[in-house]
Amino acid sequence: MAKTNMNTVRIKPEVSEPLTLHVLRSERLSPHFLRVTLGDGDVARFTPMGYDQWFRLFIPVADDSLSRLPDKFNTLAYAKYLTISKTSRPILRNYSVRAFHKDAKELDVDFVLHDTSAGPAAEWAQKCKPGDKVAILDEGISFNPPPDVRHTLLVADESGLPAAAAILASLPDDFQGKALLEIPAPEDEQALTTPPGVELTWISRKDAHDTPGRAALSAALALPLPEAPFFGWVVGEQTLPTTLRRHWVKAGVPKDHIMFCGYWRHRS
Ligand SMILES: Cc1cc2nc3c(=O)[nH]c(=O)nc-3n(C[C@H](O)[C@H](O)[C@H](O)COP(=O)(O)OP(=O)(O)OC[C@H]3O[C@@H](n4cnc5c(N)ncnc54)[C@H](O)[C@@H]3O)c2cc1C
Repeated sequence: MAKTNMNTVRIKPEVSEPLTLHVLRSERLSPHFLRVTLGDGDVARFTPMGYDQWFRLFIPVADDSLSRLPDKFNTLAYAKYLTISKTSRPILRNYSVRAFHKDAKELDVDFVLHDTSAGPAAEWAQKCKPGDKVAILDEGISFNPPPDVRHTLLVADESGLPAAAAILASLPDDFQGKALLEIPAPEDEQALTTPPGVELTWISRKDAHDTPGRAALSAALALPLPEAPFFGWVVGEQTLPTTLRRHWVKAGVPKDHIMFCGYWRHRS
């Protein structure tokens, strides 16, 4: 993961253990989003926390890939993971819980189909079939405002849209604020549930070659900061969260009122 202060604000899950889940179905939502619904297997042991809950996703590359996973993911566990031979080491990436349907016990994961240089996770999402197995390791939530704060600014590129959508759906109705969500194309807009006092703005990239996150960054830098104390949550391509966090800190926003995370890094 790129730059972040996630570990200082994160609410860890009470139990974290690798859970094996099966692909139930997949659905193309829009030009750049594909939803994979996971369930069965160990799904009864998954505890949904709402907000921007995220997990390590392990995608098998061989039959024995999922049999040697760590039960938490610290530096030591990562070092051990790297010792697994390349022929069986599962692909590891981070994803958000877009939604968890409690009655059906189904977990939706929305994958960005990044067309510049598709990576193994985005490729897997396009090829997976019902019954395919993956493992997840719950990492909890990072949207954790101080208790008296009832105002928020959410800023993300498309990689943060699933998490932002889940935050908006989880917020209490009295929350106020704004969400600026950058998407590759207008067709990628989604119908989101938001508290009445949170204004949602979609920012569709003008040029397909622009680096994701730059348009949301310009919009967020131009925004007057709310007078009320607010919790700033900014994720996406690394330049977006690091630059906006610096701007907020310079403007006097306390560091514990900000969660920033580079969800991925643009490589030119
Ligand atoms: C806490 C957390 C939650 C996340 N939640 C989600 C989520 O719910 N949905 C989601 O789609 N992503 C999410 N991400 C981002 C995701 O982990 C990365 O985009 C990841 O790199 C994708 O893996 P890959 O195998 O497809 O590509 P990689 O192999 O990692 O990268 C291959 C190439 O693609 C580029 N690339 C990677 N991601 C993107 C992108 N989004 N757009 C354009 N180019 C890209 C890289 O720069 C690289 O050149 C999250 C990240 C974090 C840290």
